[in-house]
Order: sequence, then structure tokens, then C-alpha cells
Amino acid sequence: MHSALEGKVMEASSEKAPNNPRVLVVEDEPDIAALIAYQLTREGFRVETAATGPEAMKSVNREIPDLVVLDRMLPGLSGDDILKSLKGESATKAIPVLVLTAKREQEDRIAGFELGADDYLTKPFSPRELVLRCQAILRRMSETVAAGGGRVLKEGPIRMDLGAHQVTVDGEELNLTPTEFRLLQALMERRGRTQSRRQLLEKAWDVESDISDRIQTRTVDMHIRRLRAKLDEMGDWIETVRGFGYRLRVPGEDA
Ligand code: CA
Repeated sequence: MHSALEGKVMEASSEKAPNNPRVLVVEDEPDIAALIAYQLTREGFRVETAATGPEAMKSVNREIPDLVVLDRMLPGLSGDDILKSLKGESATKAIPVLVLTAKREQEDRIAGFELGADDYLTKPFSPRELVLRCQAILRRMSETVAAGGGRVLKEGPIRMDLGAHQVTVDGEELNLTPTEFRLLQALMERRGRTQSRRQLLEKAWDVESDISDRIQTRTVDMHIRRLRAKLDEMGDWIETVRGFGYRLRVPGEDA
């Protein structure tokens, strides 16, 4: 069963292959939902929109989307609630989610990442930016292996199987500590984007970082150093962004 809106959007992209990525856009403001649907459809995505939480969950249960674009501020069931229930179910936890938020506060971003958002976009955003972010997420997820439900992240020879908790470089297993694993995961998931030591700390250690900046810096830097050493040549991909933090940059790709 398809909604009338989906029918319309599907028609607009009828020349596209039926296995093009399917995006569910959850947004209660009709103008914004229509704009996002238009942009994504133009880029070849199959788009379905939902205006409320229950509609979104119904859509997901009908067909698992490849990506969810989720507005944080929804009436009733909030974006955070939806994110939580998606990430809490084994059938849906691997679906990448791009969260739209009107709030600029960093705490919100961190809270969202803890709930499992894959990326964030602050309103107002450019439609082009949204398309690029969606494409980037799907590219990162393109190596996702459904087998076992484990998400797989891949950058060059580095392969992280999040389900099996295993990292390999050129097929050889790396022996990472759980902290190093989560640190690498945080860097891989937001490849190319600088993350502060505080963000990395919260992601990799699962702590509220009310500890001092000095200890934060020392802790994160030490683990990054070990991670770099274990990654050998690929260790250089973890770039220090002076005075701020770190990012993973794959050689040959634009900053
Ligand atoms: Ca809204």
C-alpha cells in the first residue's frame, strides 16, 4: 500500500531504477517536506513522506527505507522518540538517520548522536547540502552487510563490522580495545568532519565530559596515538585539527 503522496513522487521518478535508494522524510511542515522530497527525487532517490511519528513508523514497518530524514520537532511522537524506537529494534537499527534540528546547541547534537543519529543538519539548510549529506551517508552505508544485522563501515582497506565488533585492514584483523574501536567508529562514521576531543570522548567513552579539559585532551590524545600506531600506514588518515580535535581524512579526497 502506497500513500497518495508516495504515488505522486514515485511517478515523478519513474524513469529511475526501482532499486534506487528509498528515503523516508519525516517532517510535519508540508512546505519543507515537499521541498526535501522534490530535491531528493530529482537526484534519483525514491521518496516517501510522513508528517507524524505514527505515520513514520507505519511506513517503516511496511518497507524498510535505506535512509530516514527525520525532523526533530514533530507534534506528538518527537523525532527523538522515533530515533529511539528505530535504534531499539533489531530490524530497524541499521537504518541510517539524518536528523533535522532547529536547535543549534551542541548538547542537542551530542544527545542525538548518543541516540544513534548518523548525521545532523541544522535548519535552515540548503537543499543541496541535504542531498549531499544523504548521498554521503548512503555511500558510507553502501558496504552495509545485512548478514547478521551488523552494520559495516568501510574506508579504503579499513573495514569495521559493528555487529561482530571486528576491524580488519586488508583482511587482517586488528586487535583494538573497545575504546579504540568506538573511537575509530566515531571517526569513520563522520569521515572528513572534525570532531572535538569532547565529542570523541562522549562517543567513545560514554561519559558526560564534566572532567577537565586537560584530562580530556590527555585521554583522547593517548588513545588516538595508540589507534594510529595500530592502524600503521592508515594512522596518518587520522588528522589532528590543531586546537580543536580530530578527523578522518582519506587521501585523495577533498577536505
Ligand atoms: Ca517540525
